[in-house]
Amino acid sequence: MDQRAWNFSAGPAAMPLEVLQRAAAEMTNWQGSGMGVMEMSHRGKEFISIYEQAEADLRELLALPGHFKILFMQGGGIAENAIVPLNLSRGQTIDFVLSGSWSQKSQNEAQRYAPTHVAASSQGDGFHHFPAPGSWQLSDRPSYVHVCTNETIHGVECHTLPDLKALGCEAPLVIDFSSHVLSRPVDWSKVGLAFGGAQKNIGPAGVTLVVVREDLVGHALPVCPSAFDYALVAQNDSMFNTPPTYGIYMAGLTFQWLKAQGGVAEMERRNIAKAALLYDFIDASQLYLNPVAPADRSRMNVPFFLRNESLNDAFLAGAKSRGLLQLKGHKSVGGMRASIYNALPIEGVQALIDYMRDFQNKA
Ligand SMILES: *Cc1c(COP(=O)(O)O)cnc(C)c1O
Repeated sequence: MDQRAWNFSAGPAAMPLEVLQRAAAEMTNWQGSGMGVMEMSHRGKEFISIYEQAEADLRELLALPGHFKILFMQGGGIAENAIVPLNLSRGQTIDFVLSGSWSQKSQNEAQRYAPTHVAASSQGDGFHHFPAPGSWQLSDRPSYVHVCTNETIHGVECHTLPDLKALGCEAPLVIDFSSHVLSRPVDWSKVGLAFGGAQKNIGPAGVTLVVVREDLVGHALPVCPSAFDYALVAQNDSMFNTPPTYGIYMAGLTFQWLKAQGGVAEMERRNIAKAALLYDFIDASQLYLNPVAPADRSRMNVPFFLRNESLNDAFLAGAKSRGLLQLKGHKSVGGMRASIYNALPIEGVQALIDYMRDFQNKA
């Protein structure tokens, strides 16, 4: 392949070409410093300026109120499944909404640190919808309520954040927004903590974002490793340990790119259009099928099935030959999955649909 393909990977995922080109141009000598970013001390003025710019741009993109801290950590979303309960549970019951594999994984890990309670689950229908907040059976005084707001594997998205106060619950809401961060605005008045790995919608794997309300910091269990104690991470501006410097730099370039595109509002507009195009095509087709309740479908991850599954291998091989890559579905659900994050433009979605139509006509 002598040119870049349309890349539908669920993560690590496609990044904007302009970001990669800029990083390539700066690889060996960042802005006349005589050093590449990978070679800089995290405490030097060059890297500090990269870090501060990235943090400020992210704060602006997220429209984040001042009483929230941004932490750049390591370990990914899966490590946060332990780090969040270590910091927020105080050993008290955590409520979980199970809407797919990722929330299930989070509950399994959290159980090691505190009792857990399932407030709602859509497992009964194969995780094909997001449980409506009105149906949740919250426990009496949970330490927090965990929701995965975009289930990357099942393709289910929570389109309106629950208002826990309106449900009679004073506990903070924790959201795993790994796979739709910066694809749409967040109503921070409803959120206590949000976490996400960078490798879906932001940059390379290795950076984990934690956005946490100040009053929730400083309550870690005594067994919490120091490098994972939000208070220590926050006090040290994410430099308690050496942060993933190159990943933060790449994330920062993506933030600049997002701002130049028109920010999160513009991304949301594009993402709505991209998702509508693909889902409308799938729903109108004879060969393809998406099983998720239309109101809860993800704008980022579109799982779909061929009604004749014996065609799966031919579908993937044909896609590859047209420069449409990484469409194979997650092994736990099978079929196909098109991840259409911020960096994948509508032309990529159109190219996929053109191929799907041609394949269907020949099938
Ligand atoms: C990818 C993903 C994770 C896990 O990220 P790791 O970096 O592998 O730890 C967690 N939650 C969601 C929703 C994800 O999509």
